[in-house]
Amino acid sequence: MRKQLKAAIGSCGFECQGEFDARVLTVLPEVRAMCAEDRCHEYNKNWSCPPACGTLEQFAELFTHYSCGIAFQTVAQLEDSFDIETMFEAKKLHETRFYDLVRKTGALNADLLLLSAGSCKLCKVCGFPDEACSFPELMRPSMESTGILVNDVCAAASVPYNHGADTISYTSCVLFNEEEPAWDKVVQVCAQ
Ligand code: SF4
Repeated sequence: MRKQLKAAIGSCGFECQGEFDARVLTVLPEVRAMCAEDRCHEYNKNWSCPPACGTLEQFAELFTHYSCGIAFQTVAQLEDSFDIETMFEAKKLHETRFYDLVRKTGALNADLLLLSAGSCKLCKVCGFPDEACSFPELMRPSMESTGILVNDVCAAASVPYNHGADTISYTSCVLFNEEEPAWDKVVQVCAQ
């Protein structure tokens, strides 16, 4: 699974990726509190965001089902720190790549949890709260909305959160379980 995921991430064009131990993930109420401050104007306005996306307790329980993770990033060079146009383009590019990866990994038929960077933008206007989500098979919550700190995940994955002056980076991740090699399972059965 690890090899297939790394290849799929590379094929989507992400500039940077790094593996981490998903068992280190910690759900922090402070991160959810930052969502509630609504600086991104998406809190309580999108199915992929809090509170609709689920409780911290639900995510904490969900994370216990995964042992491995890969963080991956879109990294762009800015002309200067006011280069809003490139920042916007990089964000759009990251979203396009992310949903490309969601589609590709869907074909792997594996138990994966993909977490996006920011709220879902698949629809021009999110149907929340009056209409059901239009693409539940593609929509994924952001890393922040689950209560994990992106900085912490980058550190665990040994990828820079910040790639230096006049750069912008967007980070997402995928959680999975490495399947035991078939021979190991046979050995375990023989040992019983
Ligand atoms: S797919 Fe559409 S309706 Fe569903 S969360 Fe995303 S923007 Fe909202």
